[in-house]
Amino acid sequence: MSRRLSAAIVGAGLAGTEAALVLASKGIAVHLFEMRPLRMTPAHTTDLPAELVCSNSFKSQDTHTAHGVLKAELLYLQSPLLLAARRSSVAAGSALAVDRLKFSRLAAELLADQAGIQFIRREITVPPEAYGVCIIAAGPLVSDALVEWLGHECSAAALHFYDAIAPIVSFDSVNPEIAFFGSRYGHEGADYCNCPFTEAEYRAFYEALREADRTVARAFENERFFEACLPVEVLAEREYRALAFGPLKPMGLINPRTGRRPFAVCQLRRENEAGTAYNLVGFQTRLTIPEQRRVFRLIPGLEKAEFLRYGSIHRNTYLDSPRLLAPDLSLRAVPEIFIAGQLCGSEGYTESVATGHLAALSALARLTGTAFVPPPRESALGSLLHHVTGSLNTPFTPSNIHFGLFPALPDNAKRIRKKANRELLCERALQSITEWSKMVR
Ligand SMILES: Cc1cc2nc3c(=O)[nH]c(=O)nc-3n(C[C@H](O)[C@H](O)[C@H](O)COP(=O)(O)OP(=O)(O)OC[C@H]3O[C@@H](n4cnc5c(N)ncnc54)[C@H](O)[C@@H]3O)c2cc1C
Repeated sequence: MSRRLSAAIVGAGLAGTEAALVLASKGIAVHLFEMRPLRMTPAHTTDLPAELVCSNSFKSQDTHTAHGVLKAELLYLQSPLLLAARRSSVAAGSALAVDRLKFSRLAAELLADQAGIQFIRREITVPPEAYGVCIIAAGPLVSDALVEWLGHECSAAALHFYDAIAPIVSFDSVNPEIAFFGSRYGHEGADYCNCPFTEAEYRAFYEALREADRTVARAFENERFFEACLPVEVLAEREYRALAFGPLKPMGLINPRTGRRPFAVCQLRRENEAGTAYNLVGFQTRLTIPEQRRVFRLIPGLEKAEFLRYGSIHRNTYLDSPRLLAPDLSLRAVPEIFIAGQLCGSEGYTESVATGHLAALSALARLTGTAFVPPPRESALGSLLHHVTGSLNTPFTPSNIHFGLFPALPDNAKRIRKKANRELLCERALQSITEWSKMVR
């Protein structure tokens, strides 16, 4: 095997399998290393590649949704795993849900059919050096030994072990009659959007929050770790005013409509440059999705909130990618190593396939001495890549694809109805990927 046109890939999950199939289809010799079944993760149960560890759904295929556009773009690029997902799909309305065993077996057949891929069962503790490039796609449950190497190479502070994600709402669904802009004591300009509570509203919210249904932690999700990023509902259990003294503290804020300090305030912080998406500050949560919709809409100003992303807290090892990765997904400190999948901060099955696909294209460019042309910023793929490698939010949190990651439309298009606006965003994304793929082919 010539080192020049060879790649090692660590992890035969969604990202690693996609990357291996894409690289092999372009004539690159691939060694794909997978530690299962020699060493299992706490969530995987088989030795098959591309195992889905939880739900069997890749989410919506409707091309007027952000998830649907991402899938359409990957299908346009002939993503091997998304095509396999289609071939193993089960009826699920507009969602792409699969028979998980059929899907993983199909992935195994695709790998076996590619003469250029060697599937090797081995735990990688230090990325192998005998290859032109190495893609690390070892997932959110990456083995401890490799975590140690990453911590050493990238600084331990740049590694995170839990996602503590607050919900994000669409700004145009926030009630402008109630919410007001301002920051505590006017120190930071008027960047925050504030949702003010009266005491009666606070009590109703507090009681609903305490009683709301929560997702159950898995056995390997040690509750000790959650102390560092306490869910908002756990804080509420401590005492009646714990939230009003914590994430909902009203200090330094005056409601311009009453001229008085509210009893409590939920602050929304801008999530993207365009100001179309805002996150609920300090609202990391383990409430179920229907309960997040019900309870968080009790916050004054959010009665009709449209959630672009729901909150969650779960075990997830990932890198502080915007600081560590170059725009082509390679490690700045070790440029021949690329990071893909959930480990780089793309959240979700389809998103892991997407960054696996992009890492393969990027590694291919490196191996063949050409420049990697990233997908356009307007596309779903480009938006996801931009989040992973260019997000300015601190701390960085992984994200699934949502409209808040897309660049806004020009000002004259913003004034049209929201549904039409979204349709334009989707059309623009698909058109841009078509043009891009013609250019880079
Ligand atoms: C418990 C849990 C549930 C989730 N549920 C969902 C869900 O329902 N829907 C959704 O969209 N997303 C879900 N996710 C998020 C994410 O989309 C999936 O984890 C997804 O599988 C990530 O893809 P990946 O390719 O990055 O990693 P994985 O699919 O996990 O693949 C990584 C592979 O690397 C292997 N590996 C790890 N370390 C080494 C090593 N040192 N050497 C060799 N091989 C190694 C692993 O065995 C694994 O096969 C969940 C995540 C977790 C942790």
